[in-house]
Amino acid sequence: MTLSAADEEARAAALRMHTVGVLGGGQLGRMFVHAAQRMGWRVLVLDPDAEGPAAQAADRVLRAAYDDASALDQLGRHCRAVTTEFENVPASSLHLLSRRTVVSPAAGAVHVCQHRALEKAHFEASGVPCAPYAAIESEADLARVDAALLPGVLKTAQLGYDGKGQCRVTDRPELARAWRETLSGRPCVLEALLPIRCELSVVVARGAEGSLVHLPVQQNLHRDGILAVTQVPAPDVDAATAQRVARLAQRLAESMAYVGVLCVEFFVLEDGRVLANEMAPRPHNSGHASIDACDISQFELQLRTMLGLPLVTPRQHSPAVMLNLLGDLWFDADRLQAPAREPDWPAVLALPGVHLHLYGKAEARRGRKMGHLTVTAASLAAARATALEAARRLGLPAF
Ligand code: ADP
Ligand code: MG
Repeated sequence: MTLSAADEEARAAALRMHTVGVLGGGQLGRMFVHAAQRMGWRVLVLDPDAEGPAAQAADRVLRAAYDDASALDQLGRHCRAVTTEFENVPASSLHLLSRRTVVSPAAGAVHVCQHRALEKAHFEASGVPCAPYAAIESEADLARVDAALLPGVLKTAQLGYDGKGQCRVTDRPELARAWRETLSGRPCVLEALLPIRCELSVVVARGAEGSLVHLPVQQNLHRDGILAVTQVPAPDVDAATAQRVARLAQRLAESMAYVGVLCVEFFVLEDGRVLANEMAPRPHNSGHASIDACDISQFELQLRTMLGLPLVTPRQHSPAVMLNLLGDLWFDADRLQAPAREPDWPAVLALPGVHLHLYGKAEARRGRKMGHLTVTAASLAAARATALEAARRLGLPAF
């Protein structure tokens, strides 16, 4: 029996109602796919790599570049709403998609988060304090740099992540060399090197009708510019500081009329001041503990915001410590040989409250995020003790 054209159309429309799309195929996409499928949605992933972490889990993969007009058109036709797991999707692609379907977050907000200078201008316009900085796009900008910004951190305005595209500089000659040579004269921002006591982040979710919720404030430890450990609740700040950063993050979402999940990173300085560092227009590595420690994860929040489903404040039922598992763990101690071994998972899985997440990446590389491990327990002290033991068994440094 053949279906009539009208039947075909009705079937496609019904399928579309239950399908959502993701731009990007990394681990954030993979964990979004898991959350969406659990709630009954089909997920279509657009990624240039058909075998990446998200593609492995997706119901369907469109293998294409992020600016491929015909792939974007298909995504728009087949999906009731589309989100991104990767902030460097061209804003023009999101614009194009928004003519066909719901896009969350919107192109304008993603554009701000893609560019450090725009991002900082947005912090200032929203009354959210950030590090003293200067935008450097020319030799003239370089010559004008205020001495108070040195020593400083020079960061590419675009496409930096995990500490990549950053140089610490102590004086003007070093700054000039770093800008001209290391960062090839690309648009940059120079920030003063800050006396940081600790780092925090907050994941907020804002719905189209303006409702706002957030996950508990997370405390983050970075090693070599890469997130290494997240603890929730944040052990080293008082309730007033945690409340303040949550309010600032919400203010940033509101002032962009943001719809979706937004993560804001903060520095707490030695003198107690709180400064916004950067924003990600998507779930964030520091929010991964929410999968195992909260009754609503950051990925479920992402699904809820894009579909206009109710937002309720997630409740953290277990204190948690998350350890990032980088590719270095696959290498021998001398760090010179090709990946030789799988880390000793049975040794860490023998500990109570350990949740192992691996992203399905084929090849381990140093500094590459291969997975994470979340330890939950009845108290943060207990979660820390187990996480420290897990770190020891894996050969990771203590924290
Ligand atoms: P990325 O996009 O790579 O995460 P960030 O701007 O967040 O870039 O910088 C990565 C890390 O480098 C931060 O989490 C912090 O530990 C350190 N860092 C960044 N900027 C500064 C600064 N101005 N002063 C001191 N440390 C900094
Ligand atoms: Mg960062």
